[in-house]
Amino acid sequence: MSTMTNNDGIRTITTHYIDGAFVESHGREVLDVVRPTDAQAIARVTLADEEDTRHAISAARRAFATYGRSTKDERAAILRRLHAAASAHADALTAAMVEEYGGVVQFAGLIVQSGIGAFLAAEKALEEIEWTRSWGKTTVTLEPVGVAGLITAWNANALFICLKLASAVAAGCTVIIKPSELSSLQTRVLVEALHTADLPKGLFNVVTGLGQVVGAELVRNPEVNKISFTGSVAVGQSIMRDGAATMKRVTLELGGKSPTILLDDADLARAIPAALTMAFLNSGQACAAGTRFLVPKSRLNAVKQTIREAIQAFAVGNPADPTTAVGPMVSQRQYERVQSYIRKGIEEGAELLAGGEDRPAGLTAGFFVKPTVFVNVTNDMTIAQEEIFGPVLSVIAYDSEDEAIRIANNSRYGLHAAVIGTDLERARRVAAQLRAGRVVINGTTDDPQAPWGGFKYSGVGREYGRYGIEAFLEPRAILEA
Ligand code: NAD
Repeated sequence: MSTMTNNDGIRTITTHYIDGAFVESHGREVLDVVRPTDAQAIARVTLADEEDTRHAISAARRAFATYGRSTKDERAAILRRLHAAASAHADALTAAMVEEYGGVVQFAGLIVQSGIGAFLAAEKALEEIEWTRSWGKTTVTLEPVGVAGLITAWNANALFICLKLASAVAAGCTVIIKPSELSSLQTRVLVEALHTADLPKGLFNVVTGLGQVVGAELVRNPEVNKISFTGSVAVGQSIMRDGAATMKRVTLELGGKSPTILLDDADLARAIPAALTMAFLNSGQACAAGTRFLVPKSRLNAVKQTIREAIQAFAVGNPADPTTAVGPMVSQRQYERVQSYIRKGIEEGAELLAGGEDRPAGLTAGFFVKPTVFVNVTNDMTIAQEEIFGPVLSVIAYDSEDEAIRIANNSRYGLHAAVIGTDLERARRVAAQLRAGRVVINGTTDDPQAPWGGFKYSGVGREYGRYGIEAFLEPRAILEA
């Protein structure tokens, strides 16, 4: 349909999805898509420019004239169609995440499923929202904010796009999606799937291009009312600043340096594998990764011993192999970034318990790094304060519960946190003192109706469930004299 394969096996994508059709790019810049397992080019993508972006914005604006007045039932029907279309391509979506991003297959499958599930979760949340409230001669209705630009990161492409699209569509908004250029192939598989939902033209448009070109046009264009962004703090700040000129509403899902607090009554045999799973989630390229492990000093030696044993189960290698726990980094740049933090940890005096610099033995071609654990880390070290976005865990010892809470909160981030302990009441008491948008107790778990988002530098606003939909709504009050 819109992807061609050359004689050399390299695919080419030259189109964007605008007004319900795949249209040739006006932008001429071409980007090579590089496979992270062996650094080979596998596709060539023509990137969109400002004009492509403006076409997409116009299409979304035209579609909003009708869709902005849609009923709850019409929106629910569209969400069900999107769900059916994405579900039918779940395996292809997972395969694309494994190939282009290097996501480990087990986790990639979960990410894709939670993206697909977002459409039905939004349909359910639609029912919970009180769309109209009246008292006396006053009626308040919740109205769609308008045309929305959805700008996403590369580490969970299908999830970010489906989640933002589901919330926006549930609210009655039309959208322009700007995925990361590092997710071009994954996006193509997803857009071809969603195209089969046969939605009204212009309801969703997708332009793949560079952030400073396509993203910047979305942020500055007065026809775009809202930006929902997932990515780095620096770009989030620029969106808030530059969006102010046109009074953009913004939702920002940014970074994290999430603490996992091990309470002194925890069962180490279960707690340590759980903590390592949270640290190495999505090969460590996860905003929610639990990268600071706060451990009572009294149990530090036992923790170190259990980590040494448990880390053997976190095999690094081919992401398509279901036994692999940690795949390659997405790019050479990301590989180098992680290496530089491992060096920094060593320079600042942290002690390597596992992993370290360079590639793992036998994995020299791609962007693989060693799952790494540092001990003797203090919370003021760079590796404890900055987001590394790779499989690097810092173990920090504490003396008392109060000190653990203080260390956990002593971060510019506040996205996610975890508490592990046997006494549930105590774990809850600790959880309630953490300044993070989401706190999990005793392991990873999910709830598609629970809000997701950060305190402090981790962002502005929330996604998921009714919170995610409300981010695309404006209340309007009508008062009769
Ligand atoms: P990034 O900020 O570099 O890019 C994110 C998106 O913004 C990309 O699509 C990019 O092209 C675009 N962009 C870049 N410059 C822009 C500009 N000037 N104007 C508009 N758009 C622009 O982030 P990344 O490297 O793709 O992703 C990694 C970051 O994302 C990490 O910091 C991570 O913590 C964060 N993240 C957050 C969450 C969350 O839910 N909170 C989830 C995943 C990733």
